Amino acid sequence: MTAHQKNFIAGEWVDGSGITRDINPSNTNDVVGEYARADKAQTEKAIAAAKAAFPAWSRSTPQERFDALNKISAEILARKEELGRLLAREEGKTLPEGIGEVARAGQIFAFFAGEALRLMGEKGASVRPGLDVEITREPVGVVGMITPWNFPIAIPAWKIAPALCYGNTVVFKPAELVPGSAHALSEIIARSGIPAGVFNLVVGSGSVVGQTLLEHPDVAAISFTGSVQTGRKIAQACVLSNPMKKFQLEMGGKNPLVVLDDADVKVAVEVAVNGAYFSTGQRCTASSRLIVTAGIHDRFVAAMTERMKGLSVDDALKSGVHVGPVVDQSQLDQDLRYIKIGQDEGARLHWGGELLNRETPGFYLQPALFTETTSTMRIAREEIFGPVACVIRAKDYEEALAISNDTEFGLASGICTSSLKYASHYKRNSEAGMVMVNLPTAGVDYHVPFGGRKGSSYGAREQGAYAREFYTTVKTAYTFP
Ligand code: NAP
Repeated sequence: MTAHQKNFIAGEWVDGSGITRDINPSNTNDVVGEYARADKAQTEKAIAAAKAAFPAWSRSTPQERFDALNKISAEILARKEELGRLLAREEGKTLPEGIGEVARAGQIFAFFAGEALRLMGEKGASVRPGLDVEITREPVGVVGMITPWNFPIAIPAWKIAPALCYGNTVVFKPAELVPGSAHALSEIIARSGIPAGVFNLVVGSGSVVGQTLLEHPDVAAISFTGSVQTGRKIAQACVLSNPMKKFQLEMGGKNPLVVLDDADVKVAVEVAVNGAYFSTGQRCTASSRLIVTAGIHDRFVAAMTERMKGLSVDDALKSGVHVGPVVDQSQLDQDLRYIKIGQDEGARLHWGGELLNRETPGFYLQPALFTETTSTMRIAREEIFGPVACVIRAKDYEEALAISNDTEFGLASGICTSSLKYASHYKRNSEAGMVMVNLPTAGVDYHVPFGGRKGSSYGAREQGAYAREFYTTVKTAYTFP
């Protein structure tokens, strides 16, 4: 079987053992492309290529790494409209969101081009007379990357860029739902001048390609982003592998947005609508729990409903669309299942939640807002990963904070308030890795650490200079001159 788009292994574009058909969720008649699916043997070849390329790349000069990363960044930024369109067509983000994501990927590569030039290491006197101590950072080796479908260019970028920057080699396994974005990014990386084998793309399922990366002794580290369920399996496999693998896990969220009595209702509604429904709610940082204090509750719900009525839900590529389709049938089924669960639990489906017909057959769901929700309900505890949010009424700030922290997750949180006192208290006491004041829980910078706590994340932070904690290993050397 010959696919239009191939895997990239040892510097060659190669066919696979099957085909993944990529469907546009805004129009299921539109096939975005056909992608070669790699098997276990090809994944092993990619790992072998990355292993063979590691010694030379780990010793490459900062200038070589800067040049490659800078070139990748420049091409991504120059083609951001075209790549953004592909992303929107493949994943269902609106066009501005797609272009924004691509631009961010370009900025990430630029950031790590600069990082490649940074001097690292420390040298000092030993506590023992006459000895010198040096602390250096070295790359970890072959890094396997397993990524989700919801940010198909930015998430791979924030793993691949630091991996290459610090001298590692890469085997990249994107989610099977989004091979097009992965392929486009890989083509740009392949053209950057890096030697064969330094970067490899293997499109395929988690159970075959992903599992091979987890089990293979020559993969030194796994960087994973995806669901908690898969993350747990990955942690187990990495700990049981021989030798044991280094791993980092970025997983799901059930992110709270607290709205206090003293908040500006207009601001709070914009923050909540953006956080809960943009990118079709398919963000790990989506504001899916809106915890609203009693004095503003009714005004907030009324204003939110009005705003939701004005949201245009349609083909992601059309202009003026606010919310694109859900990514596929299985995610749509999950969203509808949770809407039913919420109703059965006694929450009130205040607005939305119906399937919508548009010009083209797609997975269109009217964003849903539940009210009269309690913190014990499943719709308030489990990640739905769609345009479904719930409002939980709180007596006062103290109760709102307690509800906000009453979750197994700890990725992002937010508060809308005009009080410096409450904002400061919330920043200190919210049990999340990222806290926003008068901003949506989703929407972060690319040059600072990204990550959560509790059940949402494990291991070193991603993004910014903190990424070096994962992509390097520290060596301490003693010299008696
Ligand atoms: P997922 O189902 O966990 O899949 C993530 C990746 O893991 C995919 O590439 C998948 O491959 C692969 N995989 C699945 N089973 C595997 C196995 N047994 N061994 C190795 N790899 C395996 O997650 P998703 O549905 O793509 O993404 C949505 C989830 O990601 C949500 O929970 C969301 O919150 C989370 N997320 C977290 C962050 C963050 O930074 N915290 C960011 C974005 C998304 P295939 O699908 O190709 O089989």
